[in-house]
Amino acid sequence: MEYVSRMEDTHQVIVVGAGFAGLTAAKELGRKGVDVLLIDANSYHQFQPLLYQVATSQIGVSAIARPLRSIFRRIRRVKVTTANVAAVDVAKRTVTTDDGDTLQAQTLVIAVGAVPNFFNTPGAEEHAFPLYSVTDATRLGSSLTRLLDQADREPSGSVDMVVVGGGPTGVETAGALAENIKFVVTKFFSPELADRCRVHLVDMVPSVLNTFSSKSQDYTRRRLARIGVQMHMGVGVTEVRPDGVTLADGTDIPSRLVVWAGGLKAGNLIANSGLAQGKGGRIDVRPDLTAPDVDGVYVIGDAANITDSTGAKLPQLGSVAQQAGKWAARNIHADINGGTRQAFHYFDKGYMAMIGRGAAVAEIGRKRIQLQGSLAFVSWLLVHLALLSGFQQKVRALFSWLNGYIIHSPAQVVVGAPE
Ligand SMILES: Cc1cc2nc3c(=O)[nH]c(=O)nc-3n(C[C@H](O)[C@H](O)[C@H](O)COP(=O)(O)OP(=O)(O)OC[C@H]3O[C@@H](n4cnc5c(N)ncnc54)[C@H](O)[C@@H]3O)c2cc1C
Repeated sequence: MEYVSRMEDTHQVIVVGAGFAGLTAAKELGRKGVDVLLIDANSYHQFQPLLYQVATSQIGVSAIARPLRSIFRRIRRVKVTTANVAAVDVAKRTVTTDDGDTLQAQTLVIAVGAVPNFFNTPGAEEHAFPLYSVTDATRLGSSLTRLLDQADREPSGSVDMVVVGGGPTGVETAGALAENIKFVVTKFFSPELADRCRVHLVDMVPSVLNTFSSKSQDYTRRRLARIGVQMHMGVGVTEVRPDGVTLADGTDIPSRLVVWAGGLKAGNLIANSGLAQGKGGRIDVRPDLTAPDVDGVYVIGDAANITDSTGAKLPQLGSVAQQAGKWAARNIHADINGGTRQAFHYFDKGYMAMIGRGAAVAEIGRKRIQLQGSLAFVSWLLVHLALLSGFQQKVRALFSWLNGYIIHSPAQVVVGAPE
């Protein structure tokens, strides 16, 4: 309340969430001369695609988290504030922070991303580590370090780790864990401890990287097997315990660390917004990215079910979020200037996944030009370097990769509260 009276007026646009979608929308609007208040629970933008590298000590937090005030220092039209938004009223276009401040917008952009979906699997929320934020990544990383330290003090016994979810996040995490064992544990702990470590990858669908071509899937399976990942495909996880997981076919995998990369859903802010929820609890937005049944509200990124010009649902990807952010900004600019909103058109650049050193798969563009191996690996590094926000962040990532991939050193100490 105090904040409203200090600001005295309604904000032209309030953007909630500074991930790929909200950040891009705010930048674009600011550059077009629109006044924006950008609110995020964190004071930084986090680059989710590299969270697994933070968790496995390949790069540091400072390479993937960039202060929002630094990003917007030259875009004066955008004011940044750090606050957790506790509620939105889409009819009134207000947001209420958990400090109790209520802020009014002429146009509201909801870009709050998603939260892990544990699909009501018993024990998963309590005992598995999700990987969706910097906090998640540092928690996982410090627990992994502690597990290896503990195991190093023990004379024998296997050290099993389970990754649930065979999509890109799960594959990249399992690959990074296996390579950590092969190179870092062998070199910095002992070859004996490395021999005792095992990484399991579990998914209820029959193949890894379900949305990729069968050629990419075969390559990924072979590469993961070569670096020692044990795959349990076509069987779901029915329970997660502190000492392991149970699969639907009755198999028990003893495990001292479980990573959950099993799916996403919209969070509570969306669930309590009063907007009708579609698949994954997300909002089925109209083709122009506005929320149905209300005026002046856009929902973009992972919080929305977005369709392309053919009506097909688009996946929850950084590229979709980024392009939707830019498109929403254009439509808001058109709203303000009496123009006409346009239906979102997605430029499909394809997708890629890293498996490990020198190994990745990429399917580029609408035609899905397929790359595997070192060419895909270099493409993956270059694309992620280009996408990272900030020159310093790019330099840090590049040096960490050179350090990790050439001399196999853990580039970073992960700081976080161990579980
Ligand atoms: C581990 C991982 C790897 C991935 N790899 C890739 C990849 O290689 N390529 C790719 O294209 N995509 C990848 N993705 C997907 C991509 O990161 C997401 O699609 C994208 O980040 C979605 O952007 P967003 O802006 O909708 O949400 P997010 O990036 O999640 O941003 C949401 C923002 O909202 C803020 N927020 C949430 N709730 C509140 C609240 N109540 N109050 C205030 N602020 C709030 C959060 O702090 C966050 O900053 C990956 C995702 C993960 C998790």
